[in-house]
Amino acid sequence: MSVFENMLQRGHEQVSFFTDPHSGLKGIVAIHNTTLGPSLGGCRMWMYDSEDEALIDVLRLAKGMTYKAAIAGLNLGGGKAVIIGNSKTDKSETLFRSFGRFVEGLGGRYITAEDVGTSVKDMEFVRMETNYVTGISRALGGSGDPSIVTAYGVYVGMKASVKYKLNRNSLSGLKIAIQGLGHVGMHLVDFLSKDDVELYVTDIDQESVEKVVKQYNAKPVELEDIYSMDVDVFAPCALGAILNDDTIPQLKCSVIAGASNNQLEKSHKHGRDILARGILFAPDYAINSGGLINVSNELEGYNRERAFNQAEGIYDTLMAIFRRSEEKDIATNIASDQLAEERIRKLGELKSIYTVKGKKSVFR
Ligand code: NAD
Repeated sequence: MSVFENMLQRGHEQVSFFTDPHSGLKGIVAIHNTTLGPSLGGCRMWMYDSEDEALIDVLRLAKGMTYKAAIAGLNLGGGKAVIIGNSKTDKSETLFRSFGRFVEGLGGRYITAEDVGTSVKDMEFVRMETNYVTGISRALGGSGDPSIVTAYGVYVGMKASVKYKLNRNSLSGLKIAIQGLGHVGMHLVDFLSKDDVELYVTDIDQESVEKVVKQYNAKPVELEDIYSMDVDVFAPCALGAILNDDTIPQLKCSVIAGASNNQLEKSHKHGRDILARGILFAPDYAINSGGLINVSNELEGYNRERAFNQAEGIYDTLMAIFRRSEEKDIATNIASDQLAEERIRKLGELKSIYTVKGKKSVFR
């Protein structure tokens, strides 16, 4: 499929390819939709097997950001960048400053951030060339590591899910299984430890498991046993595609509420399968939007308290998604997509009214 066919099929506005022989930069920025505001999304550095693979990845990720920003109620669109290269051996100040100059050239239509393979330090090089970057360290006025706000959003979203499914106002007395004790998982354990819950945890890293078992009195679970735990809530906080034909039949939980991106291996089929099993699924890009909410706060001058307050909105967002899912008898991930698309459509119409009144939109 040609680049234009790919863009038209997925609804992208713009794709920009960058090369710089001096720094070795080979990158792509995809801007999916800027109806709500400038596109924001991280810059991934990855050794793709082919240019086609890099293009498909950046198009897919940029579109995902449009939905995440829209459902989180942010005035942002969806975009993403990829740099083709090995993040362990090919990084340099020259490379990221070169990337920064290309981002600057997009005039604010795309704002970058860290992602898989890039770090806060890399973004600080980008910052030397452009203001259109977030995810800068707190010492330099940025928002720093977003994972605590992501975890807080998941905690709040878990409460919403439990209220909707089990009609309980608190998590106290519930059994909760957590897969993955990394940045988000560890913070989530900490938030949950303040409620009187029974925690079951797993991770490929035994040290993390031991730490949580010791510090929080959690119970360790074997990697593959986490799916079949007889718990109220399952919180995936490690990998994508873990809800699939193999794992869904094993689930005994009432609620799935966790931070991992792209949890459903095949979104339509597996969303429906979970609905059919009577399990309430908190759509991943809605419940984990605390990270995006956090970095978006940098644009107005970072304020951690405001970021936490905004992340509390995830409760009402999920409630709206669950109600739509029940009313229309559709999977929650589809209900979420619909609500995100409706917000973009409604505000897009509003924007055209402004244009009629002679005000020009900056981004479209
Ligand atoms: P992380 O890399 O810090 O932690 C992931 C953890 O999962 C690690 O401890 C790793 O050992 C563990 N893990 C890997 N494979 C596993 C397996 N098969 N079984 C059990 N554990 C396994 O990542 P993170 O920042 O904590 O993010 C977790 C998930 O949340 C990711 O999917 C990420 O994309 C998503 N997410 C993170 C943020 C954020 O703010 N960090 C925001 C939105 C979404």
